[in-house]
Amino acid sequence: MSATEKRTVVVTGGSRGIGKSICTAFADPDTTVYFNYASNHAAAAETERLVQEAGGRATGICADIASETAVADFFQKIVSETGRVDVLVNNAGITRDGLLVRTKTADWDAVMDVNLKGMFLCTRAVAKPMIKQHSGRIINISSVVGVVGNAGQSNYAASKAGMIGFTKSVARELASRNITVNAVAPGYIVTDMTEALSEKVKESMLQQIPLGRLGQPEDITAVILFLASRQANYITGQVIHVSGGMYI
Ligand code: NAP
Repeated sequence: MSATEKRTVVVTGGSRGIGKSICTAFADPDTTVYFNYASNHAAAAETERLVQEAGGRATGICADIASETAVADFFQKIVSETGRVDVLVNNAGITRDGLLVRTKTADWDAVMDVNLKGMFLCTRAVAKPMIKQHSGRIINISSVVGVVGNAGQSNYAASKAGMIGFTKSVARELASRNITVNAVAPGYIVTDMTEALSEKVKESMLQQIPLGRLGQPEDITAVILFLASRQANYITGQVIHVSGGMYI
């Protein structure tokens, strides 16, 4: 892509947390941002407003990434409006924490449907336009937990580890088409997802972070902007840890 070309960036789960920060970071007059979300219309409107305020354009669409038809409609709209997808950030994710013996099958399924199947459906949807363009960047938000595990998060950790295997496989598959596929593995980042944890759990998290602080969404966004940039042309199939040193 030349410096003046228009680009289309798609972020899943852009209404809150890390996704919201990613959408705002891509705000640029030459970039059209599309994001989806599960149900939080007011938060989505706020992301649209922030992107606009920062000089860009963003459209939020309520579309469940676990639904094949919702994902198909979401990308059909994007491709019919802009004719391309340059960057996909698979960010939407959920937790349904609990010790293994108490984990309900429905909680296992919900986490797999959103975190893994959602990423698969969105990536498959952008593969065709990216192959046609002979360019593209796919960035999957995994987690440090997918690499080191975490008691009480077996479903979430399995989904995040699955994202890494998927990233490496699709990176090999699409490399010849000039499409890079990488994963970012955040540690503990201050968002609604971690705010829901008790003070005791947060305190114990802090003890595990060599850099001595929880991360901010902007710590993740900086790496995503880099992976989407021209400077990252030669990087594919990698997992970039952004966790304050939780995994060294
Ligand atoms: P968050 O604050 O809970 O936000 C989640 C976002 O995903 C929201 O925009 C939500 O939409 C959307 N979403 C949830 N289910 C969806 C669905 N079925 N379809 C479409 N959108 C859906 O989460 P976060 O902390 O920013 O996390 C973002 C990603 O980073 C996740 O994949 C998470 O696993 C990963 N991560 C986070 C941390 C952390 O410490 N926060 C650490 C490692 C990895 P609504 O607003 O409509 O609900």
